Amino acid sequence: METFLEAVNKKIHGVPLQACYHCRKCSAGCPTAPHMEYNPNKVIKMIQNGQKDKVLNSSTIWLCLSCETCITRCPNQVDIARMMDVLRQMAIESGVGAHEPNVLKFHEAFLASIKRGGRINEMMMTVHYKLKSGDLLSDVAMAPGMFLKGKLALLPPRTKDVKAVKNIFEKTRSK
Ligand code: SF4
Ligand code: SF4
Repeated sequence: METFLEAVNKKIHGVPLQACYHCRKCSAGCPTAPHMEYNPNKVIKMIQNGQKDKVLNSSTIWLCLSCETCITRCPNQVDIARMMDVLRQMAIESGVGAHEPNVLKFHEAFLASIKRGGRINEMMMTVHYKLKSGDLLSDVAMAPGMFLKGKLALLPPRTKDVKAVKNIFEKTRSK
């Protein structure tokens, strides 16, 4: 039977997690590590130990910003951002769900905006997120200032080839 480590490695399509020798350079540079339940190299260790339930139920995988600071610091090019993506997908597919549900809602609003026009529309994305999360009032006071500084466009920007973007979504959905 396939181990948890093998299942994650198969989806990462890159340097296998066995390459990690736990020097902790990734965790030392990670901007969200202080807020994580387990720091990034600890997550790798837990995967190596087969602790699937603990990993998929942790908030850590939802707090990763995909900033890729970790891979730039890693002497072995272990792609932790990609690993966190894989773990989030596994958590959803296995029915565990998101330990940080609003992060998942923001993620969905972000992808819906890309799918619609090929680019982010901050205004629409924020409305979408607020409606989904029910968090209607926080940060509202910032909106006028952002609008005046041109950070919230009323008309959504679109790429020239929206169909190509939709095809990418369809292809990844069928995999
Ligand atoms: S920097 Fe790379 S080798 Fe070091 S602990 Fe992190 S993932 Fe492992
Ligand atoms: S990609 Fe995630 S784990 Fe890596 S440094 Fe950024 S926030 Fe931390």
